[in-house]
Amino acid sequence: MDFSEQTVMVVEDHDFQRRTVMRLLQGLGFGDLLEATNGHQALSLLRARAEPLDILLCDLDMPEMDGVEFISHLAEKELVKALLVVSGLEPSILHTVETMAKAYGLQVLGTISKPLTLQELSACLDRYQPKEEESKVHSFLEEASPEILRQGLAQKEFLAFFQPKVSFATGELLGVEALVRWFRPGIGVVLPKHFIPAMELAGLVEPLTDALLWQTCAYLRAWSERGLTLSASVNVSTNCLSDVRIADRWNDLVRREDCDPSQIVLEVTETEVMSEVAKVLNVLARLRLKGFGLSIDDFGTGYSSLQQLSNVPFTELKIDQSFVKDSPKQPRHRTIIEMSLELARKLNLKTVAEGVETQAEWDLLKALGCEQAQGYFMAKPMPGHQIPDWRQMWQPPEG
Ligand code: C2E
Ligand code: MG
Ligand code: MG
Repeated sequence: MDFSEQTVMVVEDHDFQRRTVMRLLQGLGFGDLLEATNGHQALSLLRARAEPLDILLCDLDMPEMDGVEFISHLAEKELVKALLVVSGLEPSILHTVETMAKAYGLQVLGTISKPLTLQELSACLDRYQPKEEESKVHSFLEEASPEILRQGLAQKEFLAFFQPKVSFATGELLGVEALVRWFRPGIGVVLPKHFIPAMELAGLVEPLTDALLWQTCAYLRAWSERGLTLSASVNVSTNCLSDVRIADRWNDLVRREDCDPSQIVLEVTETEVMSEVAKVLNVLARLRLKGFGLSIDDFGTGYSSLQQLSNVPFTELKIDQSFVKDSPKQPRHRTIIEMSLELARKLNLKTVAEGVETQAEWDLLKALGCEQAQGYFMAKPMPGHQIPDWRQMWQPPEG
């Protein structure tokens, strides 16, 4: 990434450590570097600026004003765009701080335990997304009326990207998850978090899911012509499952496209309290009877609960990425993963770990007996035609 246009500040009371970080940042090509030895000094430098700072690196354990208080001041006034926490404190505290900073609306690039390495530093900094691009998307979305969403659907602007799911045991590519992207002319590629809620409000998730199912079937056929037999997951939110005719409709749609429902896994996410529980359970049971797989997505977060697990005939459990992230360093995450895997085994569910980003996470999840991995460590979501080439290139880690 080119950082020459970005300004970065290091807040660290320890002179030697601050200088070391400054040197590393200089080496990474930052245009402008600022430093402060404590929270007060940093805040006055930041308040004097005309615009928010791009990236701030801070220590948590500082005299006078500790890092937690400092971060809450940052968020109040939108003084920085992105934050990177570097600290010698215990991982579970770092994690709580990261969660808190995100809840304050800060872009958190990561938390790094001391001593910091150049490799870790540059991996975190690479996550930085200049806010300009985001705000362009935001101002567009503020105007994204149901009419514009409908128009986008009619003009086939919602396209499926696919992310590989591989076997931990053999490294083999087993399937993909379809993830929608909105290719909006004049705006660019818009991610689902920016438009799915609006689509739900406008009652447009059902035609969106139809479009994704249809594209997914087309690719399943294309891949199978190239000798790749895969399964594919499609996300469905429960608010589009209260129409009891949907099981028949999706069954017909898939069969018309020369695919079989057994090749498709529906990843169910519940975005708000289900109002029509009976109907949703009816639809899920019938989808299962037609042969669709059912996966409980983001297990352990939000409404993805034990209650759902007991009521719905799921076939797969997806461990949420928030638990996978940093699991090698977070004993609590590891325990939650172990319990989820045990639960899945007893309920006879396939297990998938989502958001595997590092070799250490891969090694741990594999050792714990998780069956499938999905995440940036293997591949980011990509256009469907790239899947066969990716498979040729992919080399699972040794051991
Ligand atoms: P999800 O179903 O839990 O999908 C996983 C999300 O995590 C995807 O984000 C994926 O790009 C991202 N991801 C995968 N591996 C990694 C990793 O290693 N690190 C990190 N940081 N992220 C990773 P995406 O594509 O932005 O989708 C976000 C959510 O939007 C999805 O979460 C799903 O709930 C929803 N969504 C996506 N496509 C559709 C759709 O067609 N219909 C509906 N109803 N919801 C969708
Ligand atoms: Mg999903
Ligand atoms: Mg998920």
